[in-house]
Amino acid sequence: MKLNAVHVLVTSQSTYEDVDCFIWGGRQVGSVLTMELFDELLAQIREQGTIRQIYFEGGESFVFYHALETFIEKAAAEGLIVGIVSNGFWATSISDGRAWLRPLMAAGLDRLELTDAFFKGTPEEVFEDHPGFQAARKLRLQASLIPLEEYADDGEKGRVQPPLEEGEVLPPPAVEMDLPWSSFDNCPKDKLHNPERIFMDPKGNIHVCRGLVIGNILERPLIKILGAYIPREHPVAGPLLEGGPAALARQFNLPHSEVYANACRFCREARHLLSPRFPEMLVPTRSLGLV
Ligand code: SF4
Repeated sequence: MKLNAVHVLVTSQSTYEDVDCFIWGGRQVGSVLTMELFDELLAQIREQGTIRQIYFEGGESFVFYHALETFIEKAAAEGLIVGIVSNGFWATSISDGRAWLRPLMAAGLDRLELTDAFFKGTPEEVFEDHPGFQAARKLRLQASLIPLEEYADDGEKGRVQPPLEEGEVLPPPAVEMDLPWSSFDNCPKDKLHNPERIFMDPKGNIHVCRGLVIGNILERPLIKILGAYIPREHPVAGPLLEGGPAALARQFNLPHSEVYANACRFCREARHLLSPRFPEMLVPTRSLGLV
């Protein structure tokens, strides 16, 4: 088992409406991770044995700042490497950014990842100008930028590390163009068969990709959920591994558009159509905040 990280969705609440992060964030009162569920997760991580990293995200995890601080403290006490994914709304100046980050670092925060939803400019300009990155730099906190458009797709592509050397050139952003639906014949997350990381939402569901659920830790221990996950036999992951979203659409005879910008958008649309058939495996992530 390659699994070494879990991303914990602290809440579906966010400081902004209609921002498609891992789940649909918004200002409405939504699902929030409880201390009780988090303690249960830590106990199950201990039992599982291969998870070494934990990330907190949302929605926007800084909305529940003091709970976040305690989550970090508990995770660090377990010896886990701790990171946060955030939209950086709190970094209104360098000194404010430092004031927000310092207590979290004291609690055990190791890494910061900021999405680019509200930043303007190229990655170079963002690293140079955004107070969140400047504050992290001054505190010597490891930080990277995530282009949200790409993160929203499969939650994995697109992290941009700051240039290590002066003058080092960043790779250009990927150019997207619409392609025929049948060309999306593989899942770009080639680790779906042996995930290196999983996600847990505030209800205890374990996702291998967002909305693709393999169990709930309140119903079954994590170690058993992972042991029972046989990707090729999973009714949704199986076709995705076999032939991407095109195979999923073919297998279930799903209506689809002629072209898509990328595999993940096609996949999400297909899974949305399939969710009434597999309600426990295909969780409608937009509604997580509303229940
Ligand atoms: S194709 Fe589907 S399962 Fe694969 S990474 Fe994209 S959204 Fe996830």
